[in-house]
Amino acid sequence: MCAVLQTSLTDRINTFFGTTLPDVLGGVDGRMQRAKVWRAALFDAGLAGIDYPTELGGQGLDDKAQALYTELSAGRIPPENAIFGIGIGMALPVVRDHGSEVLKAAVVRNGLRGDDIWCQLYSEPGAGSDLASLSTKATLDGDEWIVSGQKVWTSGADHSQQAILLARTDPNAPKHRGITMFVLPMEQQGIAVRPLRQMTGESEFNEVFIDEARIPKEWVVGDVNDGWRMAVALLAHERVQTGVASMTGAPGTRSRNGRVPIPVQDLIDLARNKGQLGNALVRQDLARLHTGAEIMRYLREQGTHPSIGKLWRTRQGRGGAELAGTLSFPAGPAWVEGSIDDAWFSFQILNCRGMSLGGGTDEIQRNTLGERALGLPREPSMDKNVPFRDLKSSAR
Ligand SMILES: Cc1cc2nc3c(=O)[nH]c(=O)nc-3n(C[C@H](O)[C@H](O)[C@H](O)COP(=O)(O)OP(=O)(O)OC[C@H]3O[C@@H](n4cnc5c(N)ncnc54)[C@H](O)[C@@H]3O)c2cc1C
Repeated sequence: MCAVLQTSLTDRINTFFGTTLPDVLGGVDGRMQRAKVWRAALFDAGLAGIDYPTELGGQGLDDKAQALYTELSAGRIPPENAIFGIGIGMALPVVRDHGSEVLKAAVVRNGLRGDDIWCQLYSEPGAGSDLASLSTKATLDGDEWIVSGQKVWTSGADHSQQAILLARTDPNAPKHRGITMFVLPMEQQGIAVRPLRQMTGESEFNEVFIDEARIPKEWVVGDVNDGWRMAVALLAHERVQTGVASMTGAPGTRSRNGRVPIPVQDLIDLARNKGQLGNALVRQDLARLHTGAEIMRYLREQGTHPSIGKLWRTRQGRGGAELAGTLSFPAGPAWVEGSIDDAWFSFQILNCRGMSLGGGTDEIQRNTLGERALGLPREPSMDKNVPFRDLKSSAR
């Protein structure tokens, strides 16, 4: 990127966040409405999809320009942007890099503008950490794929227009080799979404029942039966998305997006309000959390293995929530809501457990680090070369 372009992009980004965005968002209420208005404004300002080709609705710039946007937008992005986390942060980069031309032309622009919201149809009742055991199947019928099966824990499925889907296309191949990645249009007959209620009281995720849903033949990401490689590519984006790199919400904004640990300043304020700021044990916890936040800032600046980022975020999230629990609610999560503060801290206490699971559990992150970063021997696997259809049903 040349110096002139850099200056003009810098000006555009600063004008957008300093003037345009406050103007367009002023007076807009409701999480979904604010999310849509923010994303459309970003797109209209020519700042969505910085490193996507112009013919797909992007800006056609390089990764230096993208890095500049990331740097200048840090801390200024509205928390409602989390609604687009799966589309913008995970699915669209993989579709851009590996999708067919027909697919890209059909979905990328709407995704970048926030007209479509995306969800991720990976996990199944019998396939979570062992994702390659998934049994939702897709078969080609003329110009369409027909898909049937059940997915679970699907965040945002109840308000999504598109889904990134993993389905089995060759049951005769070993389990990792007979999977294909698709984009599935969610608003069609044959898809039933049932929200699951979490202990926070919210319904962030859903069960999705798929009964002969249809996908255009070309809406394949990567090659047919090469879906495992695509799944791994997407998971790398996901772990960045759910790791320290995702923590770019505006400071002081109390976001219920499930991804951001309680800011240390809020814990200091809570300790002060509860008259505990002089308590040596509380001070020790605050110092530990402050150090953790600084380490996360450092990791974010340096770039790090996504699994390390995710593990740090989880650790920070749980540590902060535990301290809030100690300070606020002697009975732990069995609180009585007295104020907005109580409701927010209660949410964090109950929600932080899920941070260890979504995007791959802590144990799986450690396995990944051991095998891929440290080069330790791989976990033993008895079923790697066995055709999927010959696996015992308990192993599927
Ligand atoms: C908030 C949230 C949002 C989510 N959103 C989505 C979504 O949008 N789309 C989607 O597809 N999924 C989603 N998930 C599901 C998530 O990806 C799975 O919960 C996760 O992969 C774990 O799978 P599982 O729940 O089946 O647990 P299991 O895989 O059954 O694991 C149970 C326990 O065994 C441990 N374990 C399993 N295998 C190993 C191993 N090899 N070595 C060591 N320990 C092991 C695990 O760490 C865990 O403690 C979401 C989950 C949460 C909590």
